[in-house]
This record gives sequence, C-alpha cells and structure tokens, in this order.
Amino acid sequence: MAKEVMETKRVEEYERDEEEEEDEEQMEEWDDWQSEEEEESSSRCLCLFCSSRFGSAEILFDHCRSEHSFDFHHVVRELGLDFYGSFKLINYVRSQVAENKCWCCGLTFQCSRDLQNHLHPASNFQKDGNFFWEDDLYLKPYVVDDPLLHSFAGDEDEEEDPPAVDEEMMRELRSSEELPELCNEGQSMINGDSPMSDVFKETGNTEASLNSMDKISQGMMTNGMILKPCDQKQKDKQLRVSLANVVAREIKNVNEKYFGSYGSFGIHREMLSDKVRTDAYRGALLNNPSLINGATVLDVGCGTGILSLFAAQGGASKVIAVEASSKMAAVATQIARDNGLLSEDSMKGEEQHSGAINVVQCMVEELDKYIYIPPNSVDVLVSEWMGYCLLYESMLSSVLYARDRWLKPDGAILPDTATLFAAGFGRGGTSIPFWENVYGFNMSCISKEVMEDASCVPIVDAIDIRDIMTESAVIHSFDLATMKIDEMDFTAIFELKLRTDPANDATSRTCPCYGIVLWFDTGFTNRFCKEMTTILSTSPYTPRTHWSQTILTFREPITMTSSDAFASSTAAVGTEESPAVRIRSRISIARSSEHRSIDISLEISGISSDDRKQSWPVQIFSL
Ligand code: SAH
Repeated sequence: MAKEVMETKRVEEYERDEEEEEDEEQMEEWDDWQSEEEEESSSRCLCLFCSSRFGSAEILFDHCRSEHSFDFHHVVRELGLDFYGSFKLINYVRSQVAENKCWCCGLTFQCSRDLQNHLHPASNFQKDGNFFWEDDLYLKPYVVDDPLLHSFAGDEDEEEDPPAVDEEMMRELRSSEELPELCNEGQSMINGDSPMSDVFKETGNTEASLNSMDKISQGMMTNGMILKPCDQKQKDKQLRVSLANVVAREIKNVNEKYFGSYGSFGIHREMLSDKVRTDAYRGALLNNPSLINGATVLDVGCGTGILSLFAAQGGASKVIAVEASSKMAAVATQIARDNGLLSEDSMKGEEQHSGAINVVQCMVEELDKYIYIPPNSVDVLVSEWMGYCLLYESMLSSVLYARDRWLKPDGAILPDTATLFAAGFGRGGTSIPFWENVYGFNMSCISKEVMEDASCVPIVDAIDIRDIMTESAVIHSFDLATMKIDEMDFTAIFELKLRTDPANDATSRTCPCYGIVLWFDTGFTNRFCKEMTTILSTSPYTPRTHWSQTILTFREPITMTSSDAFASSTAAVGTEESPAVRIRSRISIARSSEHRSIDISLEISGISSDDRKQSWPVQIFSL
C-alpha cells in the first residue's frame, strides 16, 4: 500500500514536471523540441503488468521490480541479453500478461489481479533450450507505439553495439501486422508494404516466411540499422552459455541443500519405519523371482540401500546402488558390507566378498563419469522417488533419465504406475474445529489467518475419512515405463459429487465443502510383477503412510447437496439456498526443477442441479 502511494506520487510529480516543461516550451524553441521528444518517447510508459504509467523506463522498471517481482535489468544482465533479446523480452512479457499468463512459469489466471498476486522471481527462462521470447514474432511491438521500446535501453550509448531503434525500424515492426496471424494460425499473409511483407511475398508460404525472419534481420543490418542479427548466432551461443552458467549455479545450490537434507538419519528412519511403503517394495522385490533372480538392478537414490538389499536378497546378480548424498552413500556401503552383500568391485582389494551390491556416490545423471554401465543393459530399475503430493522433490525426472539411458527396452521399472486422486472434504478437515475449543477456550480468531494461509500453501496431513464428503476422482495417471519427462507437468479436469453416506439421509443433506484433498497410489503391476502385484497406496482409506495426504483449502466453502430439491432457486450456486450438486475442478501441477518444488493451480466451479454454474478465482498453491 505504502509503495503504491509512492508510485502514484512519482507519476504525479512527473506530470507536474511535464506541465512546467510545457510552460517553458512556450519560451524556448530548443526546449520545445526536447520536451516533445521526451513526451513522445518516455512519458507514457505502461507498466508491463498493471495499468500504472510512468514517466520513464527506469521508474517503470523500479516499479516492476518492487511490485511485480520482475527485475528487467537483472534478467538482461544475468542472461546477457543484447538489445535485440531485451526488445523481444518486453514484447513477450506484454503478450503473456495480456492473456493473464505468468511470463516465466506459464500458469494462466482468470484475471490480471490473480496473475499479479502470483508473480514471482523467475527461475526458468527456457523451453526446449530456447528463451521463451526467442521467436522473432516478438520483434513486433505488442503495444502499438510502445514508448518503452524506445526508451528501455536508456543511456547505454557507450556500450559496444549501442542499441537504438530508429523510427524507420519501428515503423517496419509496426507495419508487420501479419506476424501474429502467421504464428498463431499458420496462414501466409502477404499484405502490407514493409520490407518484411516483401520477404513474405517472395517466399509465399508460412513456414518459409517465418524462417525468412533471418533475411529480414539481415535486411535491417544492410539498411544500416543497429540490430546486427548476423552476429546473432554468436550472441545466442554466448547467451546460452551464460544462461547455462546461471542455471547450473542455481541447481547446484538447491541440490546441495536437498542432498544434504538426506544426510540426516531421521528422514531415513521415517521412511524405513513406514511399513506400508517399505513392505510394498519388499513384496515386489522378494516375491517376483522371475523378474529379480539373476537380474541386473539399478537402484536410483539408494539412501540406506534398503531396496538394493531387498533386490540382492531376492536373487539379483548385480545391484548398482546410486546415491548422491556422500554421507548416505558411505552408510549404504557400510550396511551392504556389514550384511555380506557388498560386491567385490566395491571392496577395492579388501577381503573377498561375493555380494551383488555396488554403491556409487553421485547423482544418477552423472553416473557415466564414475562407472561404465552399457546403455540399455539394466533389467530392473527400482526407485522410491515419490514426494508429497507425488511430485514434490522432482526426483522422478532423475528416474526417467536413468530409465532412458540404462534400462533394457523390455526392462522393468518398479513401481510402474502412479495415479493421483482427489476428493472434497468438510469442515472437520480444516483447523476450524480445533481452534473453536482449546481446553474449553474459544481461539477461533486464529483460524481466519490459518485458513488464509491454507488457501495458498498445501497442508500435508492425514485426513480422517469421516471428513471426506465426496466420492474420489482420478486426477491423472502416469505410466512410468513410457512417460516423458515433460509429462510430469500436467493439467486435468475432474468432477466431484457427494458420496452416499448411509448414516445420513442423502436426499436432504447439504454440507459445505472446504477444499480438496489429494493422494496417490503407485503400482507394481502384472506388466512386470508376474508372481505378485502390489499397490502402494497413500489413500486416506488405507493405512497411513509418511506421505499422509495433501490438503488444498478453498478460499470459501462451497455448499453441496445430492438432492435436486433446490433446482428452482436463483441464488448463487454453492450457497445454502442453491447448493452445488457437482464441483468441477481444473488442476495444474507444474514443477520448478531448480527448486524441487511444485506449483498447483486450482480452478473450481460449482454446478447446480439445473446446470447453473458458479466459478471461483483460481488459487495457486506452492509446495
Ligand atoms: N531408496 C531409499 C531412499 C529413498 S529417499 C529408501 O527407499 O529408503 C531418496 C534418496 O534418493 C535420497 O537418499 C536422495 O539423496 C537420493 N537421490 C535423489 N535424487 C538423486 C539423484 N538424482 N541421484 C542420486 N541420488 C538421488
């Protein structure tokens, strides 16, 4: 609030300055020229994210940094963007914001306010090895006559390749009206008089037209313009190198923390004490001799080595146990040795041993540097990679990497399926009842804040099945034998209906739904486990695991019913007067690989028995 007031003041000051300048204009001709140019180029810079306008690019960028977590100069510096890249970045951000999309993580929102609340410092700038704004489409100003494009480069005249866009070029960029259509609809547009449209005329088809952006760029250079796209390949290469360095540093820091945390025995004790989890793996590895006996097994992220010990016990001839935490790799080696299961390879001249386990300390992504495993030579890949809400921790990508590199084409992956489920929960699933009665005292004032937090941060906790009020729905299923890494991010639509409760009269019942609870199952199916299949479930309906469930709380409860007695009501759907018979939800889960965290976006609509619909603003949860 205070910052907003400050910004408004700055604009007002600028506007006053402008008025004063106008007075002076009448007195001095030179000033007249100067102020006109200033007004033309910098007086109406529209913020990239909101409707504020600023007197200069610098003030605008300050505002974007403090209010919208977008630090233009930092991004430009860190990625080594040249003028050409910065120009495209601005147009790209504007194009995303116009669609209420986050410029760096791609999530879409219902309104610009939700987008603004979501904006966060960027950690990823690329898709498939290219900057999001790589496409020459972003050479076209997104906002017509955008003064920011004239002024963002500031006074960097002394720098090499001084960036400046002259009016001629701006006119050309403006006149290339066909660009969006070309890119969006794949149609060839050959209207217009600009040099760009000449190239389109020449080539005559869309793909060629788009490819010919290089020619356009060369044209710009020969026209004496400042952009020098013929150096672009070289620059792109430099950009990629500097980007790769930034990202590599970031990933290294996060990984150090992450693997460091696995150096604490408490975590391993918790996992090993989780009998549901550990017995599921043990069952799969000990009770499927046709799969394990004599097999070469790769254990990705062995921790204490428990899965490798089971595999060796199950008759595997060779077990490669990979662990990135140096402490745990040493511990796993010791444990395998102490149990007579360490392989000769690992004994390094010590007393001979006939065990199968070879522990390698490294990230599985770097395994090649430490040990040679012929590609596609592993029979069974086993890993316990699942995090809260299945995908938190993002270790799945490491498992898929190992699968693609070392697993035989018909090799087994354990587990081989993973399924996410959802159900709606009632008041008892929130902390409201707890705060209402604390040793006989009412502390409800606390629950408001707690509920607000719960509407942005998922709560990992066990939910009592008595608090689950809807049927369960499958949100998404992963086939771990075939899925691709980029399929880890997904969007799904599902519907929830009240579940029939024999204890209550379902026909007259209305009850508020306070949110959605998520859980997952993983399967050791008969595709690979011929003798004994196993499901490892983290459902609230089965014995508790250390993953508990993941609870997403609505900003406000939605009243539901299974009765159609409310069909004649005209009240808003989801209220007592017009309860929803179904909740329809669109959920997206996207991981942030650098931070090993996930963002969950949740869109909810309530649907009445007469098919009226009420939607609530999207909620973003960060785990
Ligand atoms: N398999 C053990 C430990 C599971 S926890 C068990 O079932 O008890 C996951 C382990 O994987 C952690 O010890 C973590 O340090 C390790 N890990 C995570 N990502 C890894 C990677 N990319 N390469 C190697 N080890 C990894």
